[in-house]
Amino acid sequence: MKMEATSAFAELERKYFQPEYGHFINGEWVQGDSGKRLPVYNPTTGTVISYIQAGNGKDADRAVAAAHAAFPKWSRTSAGERQAILMEMARRMKARLNDFAMMETLDNGKTIVESTYFDIPASIGMLEFYAGTPFHINGETVDHPDAITYVHREPLGVIAAITPWNIQLFAMMLKLGPALATGNTLVLKPAESTCLATLEFVKEISSLLPPGVFNVVTGLGPDVGEALVTNPLVRKVAFTGSRPTARKIMCYASANIIPQTMELGGKSANIVCEDADIEAAVEGAVLSTIFNKGEVCIAGTRTFVHEKIYDRFLDRFHTVLKGIRQGDPTNPATQLGPQASQIQLDRVSAYFDLAPQEGATTLLGGRRAKIAGFENGFFLEPTIFTGVHNKMRIAQEEIFGPVTCVIPFKTDDEVVAMANDSIYGLGGGLWTSNLGRAHRMAREIKTGTIWVNRYYNFVPGLPLGGYKESGFGREGALETLQHYTIAKAVVINLNEGPLGVFNQPQ
Ligand code: NAD
Repeated sequence: MKMEATSAFAELERKYFQPEYGHFINGEWVQGDSGKRLPVYNPTTGTVISYIQAGNGKDADRAVAAAHAAFPKWSRTSAGERQAILMEMARRMKARLNDFAMMETLDNGKTIVESTYFDIPASIGMLEFYAGTPFHINGETVDHPDAITYVHREPLGVIAAITPWNIQLFAMMLKLGPALATGNTLVLKPAESTCLATLEFVKEISSLLPPGVFNVVTGLGPDVGEALVTNPLVRKVAFTGSRPTARKIMCYASANIIPQTMELGGKSANIVCEDADIEAAVEGAVLSTIFNKGEVCIAGTRTFVHEKIYDRFLDRFHTVLKGIRQGDPTNPATQLGPQASQIQLDRVSAYFDLAPQEGATTLLGGRRAKIAGFENGFFLEPTIFTGVHNKMRIAQEEIFGPVTCVIPFKTDDEVVAMANDSIYGLGGGLWTSNLGRAHRMAREIKTGTIWVNRYYNFVPGLPLGGYKESGFGREGALETLQHYTIAKAVVINLNEGPLGVFNQPQ
């Protein structure tokens, strides 16, 4: 059984991936300066899929130089040219939707259903959204009696984009889309543990862009990131990842005073009021626990349930989560795949040990899952913690696994206070049939997105981003264009001659 599963995967990997990838710099695939490679693992089998270049500062500098050289010409392309390129990228991805879905699943371990119905369509959607924007890059005018004024929105130059491993294609599109639409050039540093679908996307679309407009350097964050962000030719950094890394990147960005957008972590509240549709709320809580194996920045990992319905909700939540089909993520019947890496497996497992030490109860899961045929895969059981106090570390820290803390509450004020008692503020859910309560609580919760009566209800064009330590700047929306352009105010005086300020009699 084990041999069969592993060899079927090896065949899929050979079909979709190269045995080794270079950096993509100035329109060419090149070897890294260090001559070293990093392995990329299949999280389902625990075996090596491919190797990427272990990039360093010299590789980053080379990519930035190429992006800088490409900028003058690219920045002067017409809106129509940039729109056509983004649309063609979307078309090519759509034409190979199933291939890219399989690549995401092999690389990351997310289920094929999720890759097919979320990651790839959402990535295509972002390209299409930004394809519509080049014609809407315009400044305002301000009326003045003595002058004509106008504002140009100019591209910044070279953008450094650094992305995480959990949503590699979507996170890339959130940066690639606005960067290209506004006429910037780009150097992308994807996460080292999952970047193969990203590199295959680059292969698919590279012929569309002039050399140097879009470059990719792979490798470990600290080896590439500092040189990339501190390079004086880089004019902005767009980062998605963790708070500790964000702090470092903000320090690097301070070297040349460049702007940053930061999409960081979350510990979002999912609030189930006593007048909620319990079946719908349970479905939302289960989805929030298992979607992308819980490796989602915006997951509702603190589920607050009104005490009047707590027992009913918990009973159903437990039953449905226990029945989740876990296993081979390439099987369309599977609902929960493996964690993306050994590191992530270990991180989440540490919280399984912590929960009882903090006094919480593990109602379900809390262990490594044994999946026949995939004994070396990074599988964890879906997990519910009860007896949780909002101040516990398991309720305050981002666990990033298929884990939810369930906490009872009595009043709206109490639950809003608990929801806001977090260093984060990224997402959130609210389940109620009372319209006034929905609007009131949505206003009071300090978070970038709040979904009422359906979790993960992504609507393209809405701003994605955080309050507090979940980051700053917004992605996926028209306002993102502001983060990728700089305003220049032009004032044309309408009066003739000098002002005469120095012609006054003494
Ligand atoms: P991470 O911070 O470890 O890594 C993110 C990226 O930064 C990777 O490419 C990594 O190689 C790079 N990096 C690491 N050290 C670096 C350094 N010193 N200099 C420059 N780059 C460096 O985060 P992760 O574990 O890959 O991702 C998970 C985190 O991302 C979670 O906190 C999650 O909530 C967050 N996330 C947020 C969003 C959002 O939209 N807000 C989306 C997805 C993930």
